[in-house]
Amino acid sequence: MAIHGGAGTILPYLMTPEKEANYRLGLSEALSIGSNILKNGGSSLDAVEAAVISLENFPLFNAGKGAVFTNKGTHEMDASIMCGLNLEAGAVSGVSNIKNPVSLARLIKEKSGHVFLAGSEAELFAKKCGLTFEDDAYFYTVERYKQWQDVKDSDTYQLDHTDKTEQGEKKFGTVGAVALDKQGNLAAATSTGGMTNKRFGRIGDTPMIGAGTYANNKTCAISCTGHGEFFIRAVVAYDISCLIEYKGMSLKEACDFVVKDKLVKFGGEGGLIAIDYFGNIELPFNSEGMYRAWQFEGKNPEVAIYK
Ligand code: ASP
Repeated sequence: MAIHGGAGTILPYLMTPEKEANYRLGLSEALSIGSNILKNGGSSLDAVEAAVISLENFPLFNAGKGAVFTNKGTHEMDASIMCGLNLEAGAVSGVSNIKNPVSLARLIKEKSGHVFLAGSEAELFAKKCGLTFEDDAYFYTVERYKQWQDVKDSDTYQLDHTDKTEQGEKKFGTVGAVALDKQGNLAAATSTGGMTNKRFGRIGDTPMIGAGTYANNKTCAISCTGHGEFFIRAVVAYDISCLIEYKGMSLKEACDFVVKDKLVKFGGEGGLIAIDYFGNIELPFNSEGMYRAWQFEGKNPEVAIYK
């Protein structure tokens, strides 16, 4: 299993030891929740959902609690989930006050008869399913509020954040998980608050099946983080799956080509986590760092942040 908490200009000198320890804690907890499900014979779908819930509940990441502010000072969240066994998928965009958007994506997959729901109608569906709602205060964090204050009077939107005081730091705090279970099934899930100061109902790659999230037992499971507009146009997650399926590339070859060559030429900053049906894991990124953690069966968990 592998998880991520976003990519970007994540450099040791921009970090305090306390902050780094906190990020590591958030990643370790989420990974261990997901890995335990797999260890006990649970499904990859349950594992990725549980790991993403844990990351959504952790305020340092840009998903669920800690999601960035829109131009209107609200939180509009996107999420998706996909099952590699039957290619069933669920996705949601632009929802507010839902504690765990990834669980809404899963319910959409399983109970709505559709793949992708948006906005207030999606919230109605969540209510009907009995999902937990939280008030606006739950999603508020001081750091995200400051990031929004820095740009709210401009036309720019920010990639999670481009903090002027931190020398142009750029972070994409989206979260995601990919897993392979004992039955040989792959799954992927991704969740985000999108970009600070986003307007006009902007939606990134996170909820778009094939762009930010994809899983297919024949190939791999992928969850992306980065500048969503580029990831949408490059159809990143499905592209990697296609390179494996149609071109016979290995997971590593496909990931390196898309993230370190194609996306770089395109101008698309970010990274992704990937696992294939053999259990190989790749964690490529073309930014300075990516919050990530992974674990192979019977091995110790690993956490990394920088290059
Ligand atoms: N990919 C996300 C988006 O464009 C941002 C992120 O990865 O943090 O909405």
